[in-house]
Amino acid sequence: MNLILIKQPKRFLTKERRNSMYITASNLYDYLQCKHRIWRDKHGPLDERNDDPNPFIELLWEKGLNHEREIIANIGEYLLIEGKTWEEKFKNTQKAMNEGIELIYQGVIIAGELLGIPDLLRKTPTGYVAVDIKSGRGSECVDEEGDEGTMKKHYAIQLCLYTDVLIRLGHQSERRAYILDINSEEHEYDLTEKFGPKSPSAWELYETTREEVKALILNIRQNKPALSSICGLCRWYASCKKWCEANHDLSILFNLGMSKRDVLTEDLEISKVEELANIDVTKAMADKKQFGILKGIAEKTLTQFQHRATIKTPELKEDIYFPKVSKELFFDIEDDPTQEFVYLHGVYERSSDGKKEYIPFVAKEHTKTAEKEAWAGFWAYINSLPKNEFAVYYYSPHEKTIYRKLRELYPDVISQTELEAFFDNPNVIDLYNDVVRGKTEWPLSSYGVKAIATYLGFKWRDETPSGALSIK
Ligand code: SF4
Repeated sequence: MNLILIKQPKRFLTKERRNSMYITASNLYDYLQCKHRIWRDKHGPLDERNDDPNPFIELLWEKGLNHEREIIANIGEYLLIEGKTWEEKFKNTQKAMNEGIELIYQGVIIAGELLGIPDLLRKTPTGYVAVDIKSGRGSECVDEEGDEGTMKKHYAIQLCLYTDVLIRLGHQSERRAYILDINSEEHEYDLTEKFGPKSPSAWELYETTREEVKALILNIRQNKPALSSICGLCRWYASCKKWCEANHDLSILFNLGMSKRDVLTEDLEISKVEELANIDVTKAMADKKQFGILKGIAEKTLTQFQHRATIKTPELKEDIYFPKVSKELFFDIEDDPTQEFVYLHGVYERSSDGKKEYIPFVAKEHTKTAEKEAWAGFWAYINSLPKNEFAVYYYSPHEKTIYRKLRELYPDVISQTELEAFFDNPNVIDLYNDVVRGKTEWPLSSYGVKAIATYLGFKWRDETPSGALSIK
């Protein structure tokens, strides 16, 4: 499973979220994920919102909550802020800060239109700092060895809001806050620092985002939805899809997304698929050169999108040859991304004599030993197959990425050379990249296996297939 999600705020429930005019840390997070989400949450058609529980999001909540409970259980003395409303909790938090309580848990801080609920407020010589507990790594990796690097934008922007409120309330003067991460390690975030040499500082990003979010909450500004890979887990997916399809929005073209859609609309004054189908690409590229428009859109990309704007049925761009072998293995893994744990390597084996068999390698316990045994079992099975007489099919680079991580964890199971040779083997085929994206086009906004299988008329035995349900 490889998912990007729209976070559900921990203590900010749907109804409160809809009716509140406060700007919260969750609003800023959501805006970084999808620029349209804020507007739709506040002003979108409620009857089109899907409020059914989502197993994957519930799982993340549960894991996040469990992690927070574990941290809090071992954190020493603290004061838990209680109250029936945010305003009452704010009053109690102010009282606790004025009394100089060392550590405050679940405090509510409010200043003007800003409302923050940092997990912890910690007293320091310069005042109170916000400390947020996260069930992910505390910073971005900057190199292949996984060494720690820069601040995570979506963490930093939330810490900025808490710090802004603390400064406005006179409880802090420095732009500094902390993340307590999945490994219980504390990461200091200097919010005046830039994310990179050409990027804005965390505080600059926060200020511009806060103003955008404010305008959307107040309905002073409206923006349009756009279909992209992050929409799958969003409760507004059906609603946004309906809008995009009804309006022939450019984002219904596979891989176009919101930012390219907005560039095309702004620079070429087009918003509909049929308008893109009719543009003069040569002239657009000449204008790009002369006026510096169409940032991030090269001629090849524009031509490809224009082509996608015209197709009505699936197209084969190149002949596809699959290896003729005695065994075909259709392979998929399932992992729990919240705990970086791989619990299933599933193979559907089809032999040339007509025999079909499902062969699972399962970690039956949540332990490193069980994970390693399941993985070693998979490799023992692969090594037992007649060389060059089998082909492996998988969908997306996720398997390769996860296997590289597993190899680092368990280097005695398989060497790096063997692992790379396995994926370099022309009989080991990533159907998504090598075949679907590389050699075909579809009249679909997603080239995911579910979208294509559904388009081709396939159905699932299980009515609600979900990797998250298999984690539980
Ligand atoms: S469905 Fe997509 S575009 Fe619509 S609000 Fe959700 S993430 Fe944004």
